[in-house]
Amino acid sequence: MSEPTTTFSIEVTSTDARCPSGDAVGEENLAEGRIPVLSCEGICIRGEIARLAANMVAKEEPYSRACHGELFAVPHSAIARWVKNAGKVVLIDGCFLRCHGRILENLIDERKLRQFDALSIYKKYTEFFDVDAVPEAERQEIARQVANKVLAALAEEEAFPQDG
Ligand code: SF4
Repeated sequence: MSEPTTTFSIEVTSTDARCPSGDAVGEENLAEGRIPVLSCEGICIRGEIARLAANMVAKEEPYSRACHGELFAVPHSAIARWVKNAGKVVLIDGCFLRCHGRILENLIDERKLRQFDALSIYKKYTEFFDVDAVPEAERQEIARQVANKVLAALAEEEAFPQDG
């Protein structure tokens, strides 16, 4: 499906506040050069599977889970600095709407972004919205399949790097 090339903006009320534990994690991940992993965090079954898969990928070296809230809404946070300065950023969106991909590709260098659409990997549950429509064990199993696909694609890219 083709997408328009225009953009739109939303306004965010600014804050001077900081999250101490988020800043500690952001600084540590920045210093260690860890690769941030984000998901769309959507609340339907597709967002939930993307979230679970992102958590699984982030448990592997050299990845760590990043917070989209601080990235988008607390630009002075260490987490935002870490994501914006990372050499590569992994994003697992829940579906073809790419809710976070369409934001992130305008926030960081698009060449650093590795985007995945979880639904295109497991291809089911489109009749459901509620997370609980799929039993928890099955959600975990499907998320593991998505995480394995993502990790395999990232490993292949490491083995056969391309320009950009
Ligand atoms: S990408 Fe899909 S699952 Fe994720 S927030 Fe958007 S609509 Fe929901």
